[in-house]
Formats: sequence, structure tokens, C-alpha cells
Amino acid sequence: MRLLLLGVFLIGCSDDEPARPPPREVVLETEVLADGLSPELAFEIPASSRSISVIVEGMADGLYALGAFSLGDRVELVNLPAGAPGAAMEASYVGEQIGQMPGGLFQSIRLGTFTHVYPYKPGQLVVDGTGRMRVASNRPGPVTVRLVMPEDDGASTLGLNLYIVSDTVADPNTPEFAAEVARLFAQADIDVVINGVTRLTGTALARITDFSEPQEAPTSQSAMLPGLVADRATTGLDIFYVESLPPGVGGLALGTPGPPVRGSYYFGVVVRGGLPSLELARITAHEAGHFLALQHVLNRGVSGRTYPDPLDDTTPGADNLMEGGTTLTAGQAFALSRSALLTAP
Ligand SMILES: [Zn+2]
Repeated sequence: MRLLLLGVFLIGCSDDEPARPPPREVVLETEVLADGLSPELAFEIPASSRSISVIVEGMADGLYALGAFSLGDRVELVNLPAGAPGAAMEASYVGEQIGQMPGGLFQSIRLGTFTHVYPYKPGQLVVDGTGRMRVASNRPGPVTVRLVMPEDDGASTLGLNLYIVSDTVADPNTPEFAAEVARLFAQADIDVVINGVTRLTGTALARITDFSEPQEAPTSQSAMLPGLVADRATTGLDIFYVESLPPGVGGLALGTPGPPVRGSYYFGVVVRGGLPSLELARITAHEAGHFLALQHVLNRGVSGRTYPDPLDDTTPGADNLMEGGTTLTAGQAFALSRSALLTAP
């Protein structure tokens, strides 16, 4: 087992200088063993953290989630059933095409790169101190774990970088579009700032023809879009407007939630361009909502079984941005407010 705690060496221990708070971003290297779990990793949670984003980067064909997770109070939150987790992960992701991890923590199993953001519902607290976790997977092998723990500083601005991946699709950023995106996120007290609109021509990714359930794979066309702009020194979330998506698909998020890490092949959301402004705004907000925090109010698996979101105040069939509508509940607003992608004005 290799375990590398970047930044820990900067913390002074001598008596004559005050102890510095632990770093807000940590990278750990470990590996999933033959039993489908990594050894336990410990990490320090700084005081006053907005949230903990756990990003697990592994092999492109491996399914990943958390096999154990506890915060400073040492209360185990996952409580996996006994036995190797790989078969249950494959049953939910591949068989049921849902990808919900067994156990007490609401987790979306993910191919290649997994993301969890805690808290995701009201009442969950980030308890500082020593956190502990294990990675679960159906594939033994090395993984990199990133922990992003921004300060709970009231940040409430979401920057959006709009990319038009086409020579011909119209600029989505009309006044009507901008006003509607702002109105939708204002329900969560989030101010949307559109940082800019950039047209990317000649990319061979203008028409996305592949699509997979429950989410896109690392080798999909959609997951190649972030690579087009990975080296840009910008903040905020990237939105890619393409000429076409497979029939019936208006947009897709590359994570539910997605990794708040520029450079990841899952960093961004994809939207079919050329739609009327209000519809374009609603799809953009829906997909960005997924990426920051939100599940559909209700998903249905291949078996017919239904899977509700983890929130207490959403109702299937009621108007909601995470169904076909536009409303956000207080629980959804709380989940969005924890995103590491939010910045100060
Ligand atoms: Zn959706």
C-alpha cells in the first residue's frame, strides 16, 4: 500500500509557532485489494468546511464508490453489507442501470472516476477532525483519492463557461436564456455568472452519437469534450453545446455529482444546442444541478423498481427542475449550496 499525504509536510509542529490548519485539498494514493476494498485511509478535516468532495480516480473499466466513510465523530456512514462489494456494484450499475451503492450513504457508483459530495441533504454535518474512508470497486488496482474541503464561507456564485462545440449552432447566451438560468438558480440563492461564450470549431465532437446508461463512460465521446478546454485557466463549470445528441436526449451531466476538478474527463455537462432559449436554460440548469449535487426526484431501474432521491422534501410528479419542471425545493437548495464549485462574488 502506498499512502501519500500531500501538504502534510508543510504543517509545523514546533512549540514556538501556532499549528496551521490542515490543507483543504488532499491527494492520497492507495489500491483496491482482492476483496474489493482499499485499506483504510485517514485524512484531516479542517474546521468550518462547507463540504467534503471525495473524488476517486481509477481504471476506465472499474466501478468505484466508497466502501467506508466516517468524519471527525467516527460514525460509519456507509455500513456495507458483508462480503466483496463488486458483484452488487455491477448488479446495480450494469444490470439495473441505476448505479446506487448499497449501504447507508447515498452514492452514485461511477465508471473510472467516482465523486461523492457530503453533505447532500439537510441535517448532515461536516464534523472536523480525522476522517476515514475505504474505496470500493469491482476491479483491484491502484486508485488516486482527492479530497476537496472548501471553507464554509457563504460562497454563492456559480460561474458558467459556455462552449459551443459546432461551427453552426447558435450562441445560446441570449438575454432570455441568461435571465431564466439566473431565475432557476436564484431559487437556491445562487447567483449565476456567465463567464464567457467560446466557439470551438473543427473538433470532431460536434455530434455526439453514443450514449450509455446510467452514465457516460470515460471513453465516451461526451467525456472527450472536457479535454478540449482542460488547460484553460478558468473557474466555474463548463457547459458544452453540441449540434446533436442521440434521439430523446436533451442534455447529460458527466457526473451526478461530478468531480469539481478541472482536467477530469468528467468535468462538465453537455447540452443539445439550437433549442429555444427557455428550454435551453432549463436543460442547462437541470444538468448543472446534477453536476453540483442533485439526483432525479425518482429514477426507474431496468427491473421496474423505483429509486427516489435522498431528499425528504421532493415529491414525484410535482413541478421540479429535476423532473421536467423548474422548481427547486429547500432540500435541493441546501445540496446545491454545498458545492465546491461555488465561489465568492
Ligand atoms: Zn437528468
